[in-house]
Amino acid sequence: MARSHKRRGWGLRGGCLVIARLFYTCSSGDEPHGVASIFRPRAEAVKPAVDHYAVCGNPVGHSLSPRIHAAFAASTGQMMRYDRLLIPDGGFVPTIEVFFNQGGKGLNVTLPCKSDAFAWLGEARCATSAIEARAVNTIRWDGEEFWGFNTDGTGLLRDLTFHGICVADRRLLILGAGGAARGVLPELLSAKPALITLANRNMARAEEVVRDFRQRYSTPLEAVELSKVSPDFDLIINATSAALTASSRPDIDPAIIQTADCYDMVYGANARFHHWARDITRGKSLDGLGMLIEQAAEAFSIWRGVRPETISVRNLLIQA
Ligand code: NAP
Repeated sequence: MARSHKRRGWGLRGGCLVIARLFYTCSSGDEPHGVASIFRPRAEAVKPAVDHYAVCGNPVGHSLSPRIHAAFAASTGQMMRYDRLLIPDGGFVPTIEVFFNQGGKGLNVTLPCKSDAFAWLGEARCATSAIEARAVNTIRWDGEEFWGFNTDGTGLLRDLTFHGICVADRRLLILGAGGAARGVLPELLSAKPALITLANRNMARAEEVVRDFRQRYSTPLEAVELSKVSPDFDLIINATSAALTASSRPDIDPAIIQTADCYDMVYGANARFHHWARDITRGKSLDGLGMLIEQAAEAFSIWRGVRPETISVRNLLIQA
């Protein structure tokens, strides 16, 4: 589905006030998630004094992203504002339209809106990372077009490397087959593990992901039902939303994790898989805070053209 979203007519008008005219076009009627099939809003907008970014999703009240990006902005000397943008149920497109109509420059997109963001942009406006994931977690407005990226895989790989956890030649088990699993698969497959097994409750979903990625990567990739996973893995990554949707962790045999390094994409008090695994495994067990920081750093460099260092933000948030 090729589609373009354009916002035109920026012009200086006195001091830092810029009046913008907005113009979006949409060339396809095949719209998922209730997105309007013909979409051409025009609006007058006031450009904020500093470039405006936000994290959007539902919920977003707990998000650490505003603190992370404020720290990045301070350390790189960038003038910007970063807020939380709550997306009401089914309201992704109208909410982000208002944000961009008011001069917004970019968004981080979190649960449950990543696939809505991909559908809104269409493949033509997405980087390979987002096309392969079929999910967008970073939107950039470059003054002419909107662009979509997925920085989750980069974030995970950088955090694993930071903690000295190797992927090459190891046997990986990924729990879950949703947007987060898809988002990290390109980077993990490119890091040349010996095998990646995708374990999910819904087997059809895992098989679909495996089919999609097998076409593009030579690394062995297989799907298995979550209840049928057997031990023999070096690194286990929890990419399920069990902690958020059911206040639980994926139900697997403790024998599977005894000698493996374990990584929970969830962080903080909700990282139930990590809290469980760290008492069982003789390997390392980590939560997803480092991944969150590293994927944010990648988004920041996409927006601002400068890569922030992440050690001081790690220290700041670990102490908090
Ligand atoms: P998603 O697309 O909704 O997928 C959810 C996945 O979790 C599905 O595979 C689902 O299995 C599985 N699942 C849900 N409840 C389960 C349970 N009780 N037991 C076993 N499996 C269960 O969500 P997502 O976007 O992939 O996000 C997954 C997690 O990753 C979220 O917790 C998110 O916060 C986290 N994440 C963290 C970062 C970071 O930077 N640290 C980045 C991205 C995502 P079925 O298909 O069988 O339903």
